[in-house]
Amino acid sequence: MAHNHSELHGNNESVLLKKTEENPFESMMQRFDIAADILKLDKGVYDYLKTPARQYIVSIPIQMDNGQVEVFEGYRVIHNDILGPSKGGIRYSPDLDLTEVKALAAWMTWKCAILNIPFGGAKGGVKCDPTKLTKGELERITRRYTASMMDVFGEEKDIPAPDMGTNEQTMAWIMDTYSMHIRHTETAVVTGKPIILGGSEGRKEATGRGVMQVSVTAMNKLGIDPTKSNVVVQGFGNVGSISAKLLAEQGCKIIGISDVTGGYYNKNGIDINNAIEYAEKNKTLNGFTGGDKLTQEELLELECDVLIPAAKEDQITGKNASKIKAKIITEGANGPTTALADPILKEKGILVIPDILANAGGVTVSYFEWVQDRVGYYWTLDRVNRRLQRMMRIAFDSVFETSVKYNVTLRIAAYILAIDKVAKSLKLRGIYA
Ligand code: NAD
Repeated sequence: MAHNHSELHGNNESVLLKKTEENPFESMMQRFDIAADILKLDKGVYDYLKTPARQYIVSIPIQMDNGQVEVFEGYRVIHNDILGPSKGGIRYSPDLDLTEVKALAAWMTWKCAILNIPFGGAKGGVKCDPTKLTKGELERITRRYTASMMDVFGEEKDIPAPDMGTNEQTMAWIMDTYSMHIRHTETAVVTGKPIILGGSEGRKEATGRGVMQVSVTAMNKLGIDPTKSNVVVQGFGNVGSISAKLLAEQGCKIIGISDVTGGYYNKNGIDINNAIEYAEKNKTLNGFTGGDKLTQEELLELECDVLIPAAKEDQITGKNASKIKAKIITEGANGPTTALADPILKEKGILVIPDILANAGGVTVSYFEWVQDRVGYYWTLDRVNRRLQRMMRIAFDSVFETSVKYNVTLRIAAYILAIDKVAKSLKLRGIYA
């Protein structure tokens, strides 16, 4: 497709953008409103889709290793299950709150719709700091949280997955606790499990693989040769480290990486395998000598071809967007860019591949895992990766075509595509009363 650069950036959504406070739910709603306006969404459908279907808050009392009881708060928000059982990760984070979970749940609805996955959207988590808890405490929190969600979770109802602060082990505990309650092993109730327990080949790398794929596609569209490109990655967990590794394998030079301990810069390129090894051994990048230390702000503002925020929400905001010097931003994290930053980035001509497309590789392979668990037949890594690549390519092309059709950014195009699909399904199903 021969589209010029300006076609990738629409011009009619900034007019509709209202000033707002910067938080993930507000940011999500701002984009939703713009897309709903363009689609001329019926008021009733609008109200239906903006409201989560169900929200649960549970109290999780745990006996800590020192014998004291501590009480944690757990959440699960089902944003929507029109397209199928709801799907979404479980986040363990000290500053988690219901607003954040609501935004993340809605993003899952849109993400599944864009990827043509027959799932609705959900998200959950526990307000806790996993880095300060022992393995035993984490296991008890996870099991008690799962026990409280027995009526919510289910392979036909609501299927959790890993997110920030949770991993394969957490998913194994969820699967085991759920299975104990229903008196038989049910692997399909959760995805992102260890392969030995019914997990899928390629799931762990899937989000990073999708991020790599859309980044390379975008570079090709802008005429950037990946083997001559400079890439900066914020966040060095599952998504960040694997995106960096796979892009390095494509010949990209990774000049900056960061994690919670700060940023690391090397103009000659960071040895990513070395950084991964270091982070695995030391838990963080703290003390990593493969690059010069710099702050998170400096890292985000580095001159580069592709910037991949892959840590958390609200990193590129109305305050720093004007200082971003990347040509492409691939959103590995959910909600790393606030709604206030959108028009600034557009003005600067930066191509943003939105989270609900860019990081959808994870939920895509989670869907494959669920399919394999339910059929009881497991695919090879090669088959998983080929199917992932195909679904990501189709989704990218659909979002891109929508952006050209409506003359909007890829982000607004992604929302238009998703909201239209869910709204059409809702109309066909009708409102049960
Ligand atoms: P993770 O817990 O594996 O890693 C998070 C990383 O971010 C860590 O390296 C941490 O040190 C770093 N970090 C935390 N705060 C930071 C800060 N203020 N500045 C810089 N770095 C910081 O989490 P993950 O699974 O890689 O998820 C990262 C993001 O990607 C989240 O937004 C998540 O919702 C999103 N996401 C994850 C998946 C998945 O499959 N894991 C799928 C889709 C989207």
